[in-house]
Amino acid sequence: MVRVRYAPSPTGSPHVGNIRTALFNYLMAQHSGGKFVVRIEDTDRAREVPGALEDILESLRWLGIEWDEGPEIGGPFAPYFQSQRLNLYQSFAQELIDSGNAYKCFCTPEILDGMRDYQRINKLPTGYDRRCRKLSKEEVTAKEADEMPPVVRLAMPLEGKTLFEDAVRGKVEYENALIDDQVLLKSDGWPTYHLANVVDDHLQEITHVIRGEEWISSTPKHIHLYNSFGWELPVFAHAPVIKGPDGTKLSKRHGDTRCLDYREKGFLGAAVANFIALIGWSPKNDQEIMSIQDLADAFAISGIQPSPGVFDIQKLHWMNGVHIRSLSPSQLYESVKAFESRTTDEEYLANPARAKLNMALEAGDPDYVRGSLVLEQERVKLLTDFADATEFFFDDNPPIDPDAAAKWRPQRHVEQLLHLVHRDLDGHSSLTVEECEKLVDDAVAELHLEKRSDAIHPLRLALTGRTKGPGLFELMALLGPERMRRRIESAERYFG
Ligand code: GLU
Repeated sequence: MVRVRYAPSPTGSPHVGNIRTALFNYLMAQHSGGKFVVRIEDTDRAREVPGALEDILESLRWLGIEWDEGPEIGGPFAPYFQSQRLNLYQSFAQELIDSGNAYKCFCTPEILDGMRDYQRINKLPTGYDRRCRKLSKEEVTAKEADEMPPVVRLAMPLEGKTLFEDAVRGKVEYENALIDDQVLLKSDGWPTYHLANVVDDHLQEITHVIRGEEWISSTPKHIHLYNSFGWELPVFAHAPVIKGPDGTKLSKRHGDTRCLDYREKGFLGAAVANFIALIGWSPKNDQEIMSIQDLADAFAISGIQPSPGVFDIQKLHWMNGVHIRSLSPSQLYESVKAFESRTTDEEYLANPARAKLNMALEAGDPDYVRGSLVLEQERVKLLTDFADATEFFFDDNPPIDPDAAAKWRPQRHVEQLLHLVHRDLDGHSSLTVEECEKLVDDAVAELHLEKRSDAIHPLRLALTGRTKGPGLFELMALLGPERMRRRIESAERYFG
């Protein structure tokens, strides 16, 4: 069975670029009916950032990524926090020492600094010069008695090459002599990434390691660890780096910010997941708009490309609009509601339209609110746009566009039009879209107007205060006779 994992370190809030690893692994598990594990690699205490774990889990949930094993839910290979597995790593480090594949190193930071300076000055390759590897058993025992606690280093083979078949990049090879004797266990007994990662991938029966290309140079060390323990290797797949559209390293300037910032900006998790999945991976057809289920159905490691993926924020904007349009009325309502429920006090104060929409969502008629969102759905690209777009639905005295008013006020038929429509609304408690259209057409005929638009524009202005918006008859039907009467009455005073 396929078992894959996302193994973040809680050193910050995940960015859009790096959460792609989680997505690829999740899609792989979904596609093959396997398990997706989230393992928290919290062995670097100094770099831990408060709140990062919460942001990691929140980002995954927002994108629609659920895990089968991991934080909050546990699982058969618990614990899923490396900080709770320290004794395991210590005993495996000991096993490596016993088999001669690792050794204790007593070099102090001062010694290491001196070594680095010497190497730099003499233009030698930098790295640990392996001096403690040559210590005899007696020397180690003696040093242990009177020196600082040692670190444990991996004894890399000094000759030959490490070869492996990367599922994305094909054959990869590294010269062993050029690979550092990596620290596996620090002097305080905490493991480094390399040891803990390999031990856990083995114990948690991970079959495929899909991760970013920045880890590829660590892979020979990992392979040497697997070989030293006599463990079976997983499949390695290194996804390409992500660049900006200008070909430079991805940065904030290109929009590579916290994943959750995108939620605040009004993007849908489904759109962001769709966007991220297509950076460096493709379903091998031209399909671009895909739900998370579509992505899972199509996912295969063979679709990951070795060449850099491009992060094009314009594409995300476009995709978001398409995803918004594909929501059903109730999904749309729920998405906007979830989005608006996170509005901060400052945002309320800064944006009265947002305050109105929030009030309507909390206390208004859900059918009316849903209807207003549906009418704006075609035009909106971000969830943030709904507040302004729908504001006139939630304000019975919508401020009238002054330029448009200046145009229509001198036209004598406007006042008569408003009277007629007002009269025809009497006795109705609701109207269909067709009935609204007929009502307007009847008024056009009765007033002998040349153009239908001579009625449509001023009526839209009277009912919404605006010159643009959804179809007039649709919005009339949604407003309903009661609201329309109130609005026309104030417009009659305005245009009269
Ligand atoms: N803890 C590593 C990270 O922060 C995991 C790398 C890997 O997937 O092996 O990305």
